[in-house]
Order: sequence, then C-alpha cells, then structure tokens
Amino acid sequence: MILKWLILGVIVYVVYIAFFKSKSVQNSKGSFDKKDDDSEDLVECSECGTFVAKHEAFIKNGKFYCSKECMLKG
Ligand SMILES: [Zn+2]
Repeated sequence: MILKWLILGVIVYVVYIAFFKSKSVQNSKGSFDKKDDDSEDLVECSECGTFVAKHEAFIKNGKFYCSKECMLKG
C-alpha cells in the first residue's frame, strides 16, 4: 500500500517541522533575555554634571550628586 507510506511520510514531516519551529522560538527567547542585562541607570550630578550609576549616587532634596562633597556644596 503506497497510501500507508505516504501518510507516514506526512506525519514524520509535520513532527519534524513542529520540533524545528519550537526549537527556534526557544533560541530567540534566550537572546531577548540577555538584552535586558546590559541596561544601566545613570543620573547626572546636580553640582558638577558627572554621570554616576543611580545605586551609587547621593540624594538630597530629590537631587542626585556624584559624591558627598558635591552633596554638601549643593
Ligand atoms: Zn558632582
């Protein structure tokens, strides 16, 4: 029966395409997650204008400063 082998061939082809598609989706998702790690939040010092990472900045009266000296001046 040729029809039996034809159906089997179609099933194998569909399974192969479904597997290949799901694999490529996982790969694109992985590279998308990597993109988020590169972003860093920088703020400008209100006194001297130096850019400093937000988690390292000094804050006084809602303004950001690069160092304690700038914070005392401003
Ligand atoms: Zn400063």
